[in-house]
Amino acid sequence: DKFKDGLSKTRKSFSDRMNNLVKRYRKVDEDFFEELEEILIESDVGITTVMDLVDRLKDESRTRNIKDTAQLKDVIVEVLSEFLTKNSEETELKLNPSGLTVILMVGVNGAGKTTTIGKLAGRLKNEGKSVLLAAADTFRAGAIDQLQVWGDRTGVDVIKHQEGSDPASVVFDAMQAAKSRKVDVLLCDTAGRLQNKVNLMKELEKIKRVIARECPSAPHEVLLVLDATTGQNALSQAKLFRQASEVTGIVLTKLDGTAKGGIVLAIRNELDIPVKLVGLGEKLNDLQTFDADAFIYGLFA
Ligand code: GDP
Repeated sequence: DKFKDGLSKTRKSFSDRMNNLVKRYRKVDEDFFEELEEILIESDVGITTVMDLVDRLKDESRTRNIKDTAQLKDVIVEVLSEFLTKNSEETELKLNPSGLTVILMVGVNGAGKTTTIGKLAGRLKNEGKSVLLAAADTFRAGAIDQLQVWGDRTGVDVIKHQEGSDPASVVFDAMQAAKSRKVDVLLCDTAGRLQNKVNLMKELEKIKRVIARECPSAPHEVLLVLDATTGQNALSQAKLFRQASEVTGIVLTKLDGTAKGGIVLAIRNELDIPVKLVGLGEKLNDLQTFDADAFIYGLFA
């Protein structure tokens, strides 16, 4: 139901229009596919993925001899599910079974990193884990205070220095604290300066070195936070971040605020990074583990 509520905008732009299309056409033909392409593109599925999808649908309709659009609709749902589960590795977060888990959060400013860290901290705490936050976005004005607000809200400590200080040294202190307090999960915020890829890469590498020196198996996850409302831009950001650092999972935020939910399909089809979490609202419990079936259900409910 979270997915159903959260995806209402995408559902309106996508499924309602598709249902309408099916009613209007009845017979499967070139014009039908062309309009379907348009709907998919406007839901931000992305041209490459739209072409892949429509090619598959044309193949299926030929081999299964489907002439009726209502019948094809079932195939569309089937093919969309297939695209959503493609390249899907584990969507659960990888937690260290014995000892400290370190999760690094990356992404550009405004993507929803801080909010996601807060939500994740709350969720992990609810699962009975002890959590610590590292305020290593020392660059963006207000980032440290904002993380502290989430720390207070969730009852989780925040390791922080002054604005402008070296993020790697914040992370170093946080690693020391996490180890001495025997914390289960350390969540590290980072600055997302994509404008300067070389600096970003250097900063993330330095942070990762500090983490690995203190805990060789860490970081266990590098989660890239992407804003779904930016549509295709999110996809190009993912490609850039992937060049700057190894990304183990994607968090797609603000799916509730956009009709561009089709971006999930593009991410699944064009990147081999699993979408692990989705943000479906601004509140503490609006972070969900990505579930392809629930997503499809939300899209057509
Ligand atoms: P950061 O700069 O990446 O740390 O981004 P923030 O965490 O400050 O988030 C930017 C804005 O997006 C804030 O107003 C958040 O409340 C909002 N936001 C974050 N995630 C979601 C989400 O899943 N849904 C909605 N509707 N808003 C979100």
